Amino acid sequence: MIKRDAVNKLSCAAVSRRLPMFEAGFLAGCAYARADVLVPVGREQWDIVEVKSTTKTKAEHVNDLALQRHVYEGVGLGIRRCFVMHLNSAYVRRGEIDPSELFTKTDVTADVDDVVGDVGSELKKMVRIIGQQRSPDADIGLQCSDPYDCPLQPMCWKAVPKHSVLTLAHVAKKKAFQWFHDGHARLQDLPRDTPVNAKQQIQLRAIRSRRAQVDRDALREFLDGLEYPLHFLDFETINPAIPVWNITSPYQQVPFQFSLHIVSSPGGKPAHHGFFGRGHRRPAARDPRAPQTPPRPARLDHRVQRQLRKERAAGLRRSLPSFRLMVGQGRVPRCRPLAAVPEFHYYHPDQCGSASLKAVLPALTGKGYADMKIADGATASQGFLRITFGEASAAEHRKVRAALEKYCALDTEGMVWIVKALDRLR
Ligand code: SF4
Repeated sequence: MIKRDAVNKLSCAAVSRRLPMFEAGFLAGCAYARADVLVPVGREQWDIVEVKSTTKTKAEHVNDLALQRHVYEGVGLGIRRCFVMHLNSAYVRRGEIDPSELFTKTDVTADVDDVVGDVGSELKKMVRIIGQQRSPDADIGLQCSDPYDCPLQPMCWKAVPKHSVLTLAHVAKKKAFQWFHDGHARLQDLPRDTPVNAKQQIQLRAIRSRRAQVDRDALREFLDGLEYPLHFLDFETINPAIPVWNITSPYQQVPFQFSLHIVSSPGGKPAHHGFFGRGHRRPAARDPRAPQTPPRPARLDHRVQRQLRKERAAGLRRSLPSFRLMVGQGRVPRCRPLAAVPEFHYYHPDQCGSASLKAVLPALTGKGYADMKIADGATASQGFLRITFGEASAAEHRKVRAALEKYCALDTEGMVWIVKALDRLR
């Protein structure tokens, strides 16, 4: 239990020194606040600065600051202004990080003024609820994941059926929750005259018939339009909040690995090519976009340049002119997603409204990502960051790298399998 007098006494001693304070904790009534920075202003006042990892201010930041201000004013501190300090998305790192450019301070005093008066009554409501014997009845809704994922989801969502209306493709969540609470929790419970778009119709037909839906004409048209050799390409990227390499910005996607399967002719055996940015442990973590050995980018040029996605390729060219060798100078022709998949020309009920590779591959081919040490993009990014900037041993480095190579290769080999399976269905 936090002892109010002890906490406040400690913080008050620091207050009297009139120096900036980090995470100064105060208790007022039932509320405890610890702002990131308290900055002394003049002889008696303070500014609150809350530091966030976002690139703009959000409504929930204002609520944070309102609570902090409520507490600090409650113990007698004079608060002049409230700021959110967040990342500046326009910042481009060139050499050492310049903190004054990396961060932007936004004055949200007026927004805090608008809500701070309600904090006391909101706190009373919360204390009353916390004191109840039973948790209040609450319907699941948008609040379960906005602004943050609620940790009680596993409990509150366990009764949600697998094929609920919340899985309907491209549905507005608000509308889906309305259906859910109006007695149409399952997709098959939706009234037949519910207005839905073409893809949603396919999904509903699949659920009602419990069978995969195949549009053979559309599949044939898609498959006949493919020009060999086919290139199946996938990237893995990291997007750190603090740019770790030159000429990158906060949260910029930096590719560190790709996998490429090439099928030269119909029915041909796929050839695999891969690239993995050499991660070095601190302090010399090397930019994975930079040519690792001179011949490699040149050798891959003719295979890769036609396949790189336009936007990412353009980003690379801008960030790293020397990378032109690898990504080519012009637009990326003939590059497109596996259009038959997002268009639902094939759709299996187990896809649950998704056209992602992770959903389609097992539903269509029976193969998938089970038992893989790295089985999704987020884990892949974390793995690369750990072996590049963390304290990973050489053995862990090898293990993570092998898992990353296996995962990325499966992403592109999976696309080869999908095209083969679609071809059998046409
Ligand atoms: S998951 Fe959290 S937000 Fe959603 S209903 Fe349950 S307690 Fe409320």
